[in-house]
Amino acid sequence: MDNNSTTPVDPRVLDEMLPYFKEKFGNPSSHQHRYGWLAEDGVDMALERIGSLIECREEEFIFTSGATESTNLALRGLAYTYRNTGKKIITCLTEHAAVLEPIRELEQSGIPIQYLPVQSNGLLDLNQLEEALKKPTFLVCIMMANNETGVIQPIQEITQLAHEQGSLIFSDASQALGKIPVLVDNLGLDLMACSSHKLYGPKGVGGLYIRKGSPYIKIKPQITGGGQQNELRSGTMNVPGIVGFGKAAEISGQEMQGEYQKLKTWRDLMETSFLSLPLSYRNGTFENRLPHTLNLRFDFIKSEQLFQKIPHIALSTGSACNSANPEPSHVLLAMGLTEKQARSSIRISLGRMNTTGEIENAIKDIRLGLENLRNEDVFWLKSKAKELY
Ligand SMILES: *Cc1c(COP(=O)(O)O)cnc(C)c1O
Repeated sequence: MDNNSTTPVDPRVLDEMLPYFKEKFGNPSSHQHRYGWLAEDGVDMALERIGSLIECREEEFIFTSGATESTNLALRGLAYTYRNTGKKIITCLTEHAAVLEPIRELEQSGIPIQYLPVQSNGLLDLNQLEEALKKPTFLVCIMMANNETGVIQPIQEITQLAHEQGSLIFSDASQALGKIPVLVDNLGLDLMACSSHKLYGPKGVGGLYIRKGSPYIKIKPQITGGGQQNELRSGTMNVPGIVGFGKAAEISGQEMQGEYQKLKTWRDLMETSFLSLPLSYRNGTFENRLPHTLNLRFDFIKSEQLFQKIPHIALSTGSACNSANPEPSHVLLAMGLTEKQARSSIRISLGRMNTTGEIENAIKDIRLGLENLRNEDVFWLKSKAKELY
């Protein structure tokens, strides 16, 4: 139940990948023989499938090693072009570390950055964005769906505001792609990062959408060498990974509607059950959120202790990248939770491979774990005693 940190590879994806480890092992840049052509065909097929999922042209998408590389390329690559203009980047406090860390480095190198806060429901305040855009801005960088809370930002409106003020817009869509419709033209995006392993594809492959035809989008490559992928990302392409990413994108597109309903039904079932417990709360907005993600706070509970009570259920505090890091979630703090409240919060993220039985057992076991923990807590027992007498 931690599918936002990664998903298992769909067996159909693996089947599609296997020939590209075996007979079709060629280098797609080898144009002189059949091995190269077959590998190139695999890459082209993946581009077509991803292009049809996000409605972009093949020349508008490049493959990387994952969303982290894509965000680094987009941010550092654009910042290089705009570094002497005095213009700023607007971003948001609840972004993923893959965005915040490169941005922090750009800030240290002298590029002005404005970090927008979020409201207590996790959504950006568009009036604040509008205000921020009054000062010269070259890039608005706002994620599509949050990995910890599932909150979906109003990207279409954000894009419109950014473009009205002559700013480009870049969105990290790692958690949204394959789960909800992500159509780059419809949303008006200039750049978009995504990752294969969040939608049942293999790890170590992702991509960056870059709108073609705008003179304002000039990206300095961060990896140079053989000049592959229009010189934007050198290095021999990860053909099996790319083929798997393409297949995963195709399946997600075909099955999105049914899967959305299935996951939402399970998520709502869990939410209803857990919110019926005393002193439990949802973190994040009710309406604009991913169907499979649930972030809950249980007062008098430390999430780490709950995980120890129910080690057979894979739960998380939020960002997988920070699991070794005992700091409370920066996303929840930005939404106004105290450190203690953030440490009392858990994320449940469901996925394609879960079963109804697993959902039912998880509800039962998590409730039991919570009850046991609270009964061990003197403060909880005291507060309950006060209620009773
Ligand atoms: C997982 C994730 C990333 C990082 O993706 P990788 O492919 O693992 O580098 C970036 N942003 C968000 C929102 C994510 O969920």
